[in-house]
Amino acid sequence: PQRPYIVGNWKMHGMRAMLSEARAIDRAAQRHMKVEVAIAPPYTLIHPVHREAEQIGVGAQDCHYEEDGAHTGDISAGMVADAGAKFVILGHSERRENHGESDKLINAKAEAALAAGLRVILCCGESAKTREAGKAVDFVTEQLKASLPASAKDLEDVHERITIAYEPIWAIGTGNSATIDDIAQMHAAIRALLFEMYGSEKGPEIRILYGGSVKPENASEILGTPEVGGALVGGASLTADSFMSIALAA
Ligand code: 13P
Repeated sequence: PQRPYIVGNWKMHGMRAMLSEARAIDRAAQRHMKVEVAIAPPYTLIHPVHREAEQIGVGAQDCHYEEDGAHTGDISAGMVADAGAKFVILGHSERRENHGESDKLINAKAEAALAAGLRVILCCGESAKTREAGKAVDFVTEQLKASLPASAKDLEDVHERITIAYEPIWAIGTGNSATIDDIAQMHAAIRALLFEMYGSEKGPEIRILYGGSVKPENASEILGTPEVGGALVGGASLTADSFMSIALAA
């Protein structure tokens, strides 16, 4: 099985002064090689982090679906790879909400990312309203079916190239993570889908991360839940101290 994967999503946080946190995360990660640690800083810090990091992976939080062209303000998958990114987070609920990203668009971005040689962390997750209506599992299943790139099926190393992140929207940035039962149920459903899509050999190997108010206090319980292969951490990834205590809990 793959190592637990602990990924920090810095969102729109990170001036150059925060490179010292990235360095501290990198140093700590060198002492804990049984966990795979990575951070996705803002675009502006991808190359600086890449230059300094020896152990951790660096990634982007989004990319465009085309290779290049007249798209003012956009950044392609090839560009983030050129800057040193090894992966890209796609389909985060903040992109879906704030930028109207659809499953179809996310699917196209994921194809572009794979073509550029990047690994993809594909986010999914339901709103509070969908969960209250009892439709969370159906919603997330449909979301994944529509956003997962078709070409992933042909990849020998699909389990290395694709990671799923289940992030219930109501748990992001609220301090209230999902319950262990909710996490276990959703991760089991996602696992069944991966099994169906990628077969009995690769399906079980694809890591499914949980995200939404993961912090040092709840990390070991969440990371010990069946089918949880790691965490996608927002707020608590901004300091090396809290982020690495989460990584140590894996
Ligand atoms: P928080 O850890 O701040 O809740 O954010 C989770 C998240 O959205 C990570 O992508």
